[in-house]
Order: sequence, then structure tokens, then C-alpha cells
Amino acid sequence: MKPTPITAPPADAAARKAVRPVVCYPTQSLPRADLSAYRAVRDGMELVGTVVVPPRDAACWTVPAGHFFRIVSTEGAQVGDLNLFNANDLKERLYTGKTRALNGTHVGLGDQLFSNLPYLRPIATITHDTLDWYGFDEFGGSVHDVIGTRCDPYTHNLLSAGDHYHHCCHSNLTRALAKATGMTLPEAEPHIHDVLNVFMCTGFSRDTGQYFMKASPVRPGDYLEFFAEIDLLGCMSACPGGDCSSEHSSDAASCHPLLVEIYKPARLPEGWRAPAINGYDRSHGC
Ligand SMILES: [Zn+2]
Repeated sequence: MKPTPITAPPADAAARKAVRPVVCYPTQSLPRADLSAYRAVRDGMELVGTVVVPPRDAACWTVPAGHFFRIVSTEGAQVGDLNLFNANDLKERLYTGKTRALNGTHVGLGDQLFSNLPYLRPIATITHDTLDWYGFDEFGGSVHDVIGTRCDPYTHNLLSAGDHYHHCCHSNLTRALAKATGMTLPEAEPHIHDVLNVFMCTGFSRDTGQYFMKASPVRPGDYLEFFAEIDLLGCMSACPGGDCSSEHSSDAASCHPLLVEIYKPARLPEGWRAPAINGYDRSHGC
């Protein structure tokens, strides 16, 4: 429990709290993807690969720049914890913090996922989302967040007085990346990063600001689709929390596999070019 405040509010407390917020990053200046150009090449695209992510486990796949990939619910409500890397340089990877600052707490149709500093460029664009009808619910919840981190055995150990659980998303992702790259587990683990929580329904409670989750609205047949802006290595865990309606970091929840489909369009979106790495000169004023 957090302690109650010990400081008496100042006389102008109400006025200070009534100041209206401004959006941190004016998104009018953020170049938005030309969604219609991407969507124009989806018709007739060819399925060129599939990967099944087993429940309580993870798997990797690669997608060339200019291809699409979908994360598909096939058997039941299931959340996926997604890591994305530059397939040619694992140092460049999804940066959920800046993706969140630029797009909002949850991502969807037309949003772009950004890579870490110093690369900071769009690495994937969301081109279809069958859950885009969900929006925000009465609790402030929405789907596909970039606010959570990933369930991990260290936090579980901390909160459970020393228990060891080996199928948290962090461990699943570590094992899958090690297998895909030939790295040892200690080599692979530092590459695992904060995730895009695919299909997960989350928010912050309005009264206490606590991160909450609720049963995912995803149903078999739903999918989230991305366009690969660069050559991508994807790695995703089918979370041991299943639909994340109650708990994770245990074998209690009912879990399902997730399917990844990779598609090759007949042509590239009109006017599309692979984004260059960020243009800042990196002199830092020196
Ligand atoms: Zn998880």
C-alpha cells in the first residue's frame, strides 16, 4: 500500500490541478505513414511462411523489408509478447518508450513502431487490426499496449518470496532468441527488451494510476498486421497468462498458441522507401 499524503494542500491546489495538459509530442509534426499506399498492396499478397508460437513458449521468425506479417489468434484468447530486432544488427530493436511517447499507450492501425537510440526510425507500420473497433473501454483499457514490460522470473521471484517460474515471457523470449541465433542463454538474455503486448487489454486505474489488465477481447480469427520497414527478426512469447484475465507467471491460466503469417506483396507501396537511420549528427554539442 502506498502511504497517504503527509503534505497539506496549498491554498491554490485546485487551480494548480486544473491546468490543462498538453500533448508532449505534437504529432502533427510526426510524419505519418501513408496508410492507403500500404493497404493498396495487400490484395493478393502471397503467404510465404508461417510460424506457430506454442503456448507458454516463444518462437522467432524473419521478415524482409517490404513484406507484411500477421499475428493471428487461432484457437482461443491469448496474449503475445512481441520483441522486434533489426535482423542484420540486433543492437537496433523496438523502443516501446518512445513508441509510446509518440503514438500513445496503445498502438493500432496506422501507428509506427520505432527503434532505440541512436537509430530511432520506424521499423514496422501497423496496417490492419481486427480489434480496432475496441478503442478505449469504460475502465480506460485498450488493446496492444506499449506500457507493460513482459512477465519475468525476477519480478516473480521478488513478489513470491523466492519462487522460480521458468515460462515467463522473458524466459521464453530468451530461449527462443538463443535457439534462433546460436547464442548462449547469458548472451541472448540482454537482447530481450520491453514488448508490444499484442492483443493484451490494459490500462492504468484512474484513482491509483496502477497498471491493470483484463480479459483480452481477442477471438480466433482476429489478427494484427504489420509492414516491415526494415529486415526484421521477430520473437514472440505466448504469455503464460493466456488471455491475461487473472494472473501470469504460473501455469494456472488456459493458454493457446499464436500463429505468425508472413506475406509477400506483388509490389511495394507507392512512394515507399526503407527509412534511413536517424539523421542526428551525434556530436552532442562537442
Ligand atoms: Zn507474459
